[in-house]
Amino acid sequence: MVQDRVVFISGATGFIGQHIVKQLIEKGFKTIGSVRSTEKGDNFKNLLKEAGLNYELFEYEIVKDISSKGAFDDALKSHPEITDVLHTASPFTFEVQDIEKELLRPAIDGTESALQAVLTYGKNVERVVITSSYAAVAGFGELAAPGKELTEKDWNPITYEQSKSNPMNGYLGSKKFANKKAVEFVEEHKPKWSLTTICPVYVFGPQAFEIKDKSKLNTSNEVINGLIKAGKDKSDPPQQLTGYFIDVRDVAHAHVKAVEPGNKLGGERLILSEGPVTTAKIAEIIHKDFPTIPLPHLDPSKAPNWDKTESIINNKKTRELLGFKFIDLKQSVDDTIEQIIE
Ligand code: NAP
Repeated sequence: MVQDRVVFISGATGFIGQHIVKQLIEKGFKTIGSVRSTEKGDNFKNLLKEAGLNYELFEYEIVKDISSKGAFDDALKSHPEITDVLHTASPFTFEVQDIEKELLRPAIDGTESALQAVLTYGKNVERVVITSSYAAVAGFGELAAPGKELTEKDWNPITYEQSKSNPMNGYLGSKKFANKKAVEFVEEHKPKWSLTTICPVYVFGPQAFEIKDKSKLNTSNEVINGLIKAGKDKSDPPQQLTGYFIDVRDVAHAHVKAVEPGNKLGGERLILSEGPVTTAKIAEIIHKDFPTIPLPHLDPSKAPNWDKTESIINNKKTRELLGFKFIDLKQSVDDTIEQIIE
């Protein structure tokens, strides 16, 4: 059944964006995605078609660079029928030369441009969702608070200046200050639409559609892909991590829930985390479930010490508000690997 709601998704061709569009179409929502080029838009439409989805429920608008002034004006102006906006587009990479220009400004200015365009042109918009991150909630490295309980109310203490010190801090700061910008925007303009903020931890899980190029996946899935590549090439294992994970299908599900009529997520900030993850744990799952896949040796002494790095996430409120069970690590890793090796 086709719904009478029209959802705009920025960053529709991203890892998370693709899953959101897929789930929305499966539920009969009309979708309008922002993509960077006609080629990307047409390719994505083809992927939807090949997957047997109702691709006519997807159209796209070109937004080449979210950091340019008024980046979303034309898209919102052309589609007064939009009822909901999901702003997922933001740079998620550590391979940058200019931290401020390539990470901080696109995230912060892109959020402001998206919200300003909705305020000015989105006369039928009722709900806005921004994809923030656990990076906006917790401090990392020198700013970590090991053992401290963190909830949906917490903020990463990183400053704008600290964010410019290296690409990792640049990404952390980009998510914190974009999230802050959204909060300030709503406080200042008191729009008629509600704002929901979604803060996922590391997002794993299969790509929404067939992977055409397996040499490099999106940044978070490279944690898993990097292990397989190192095992195959007999090269050094990737840097080991500790942290928390959530499956991409649950991240998309939360975005979709936030635009479903009658939901109670307006005004909420959600932390999407299923539970803890370490590189060693991922390797253990792969070793058990895919014993023929060669893996690199992981030196336990080179793994970060959980007790010295990680805060404790308390996302009880998020779980209650969402009301669905998150996919566990084994399922997420297994489904990711199956798609990589197929
Ligand atoms: P992704 O695959 O890299 O997707 C990012 C999307 O944003 C892509 O569509 C990308 O377009 C677009 N984008 C980036 N910079 C842009 C710019 N300057 N102008 C226009 N478009 C731009 O990453 P993802 O994992 O799906 O991330 C989506 C969102 O989730 C981001 O806000 C990210 O911070 C957040 N998040 C991700 C994770 C995770 O572990 N994956 C965890 C927490 C939060 P192109 O592909 O064309 O470059």
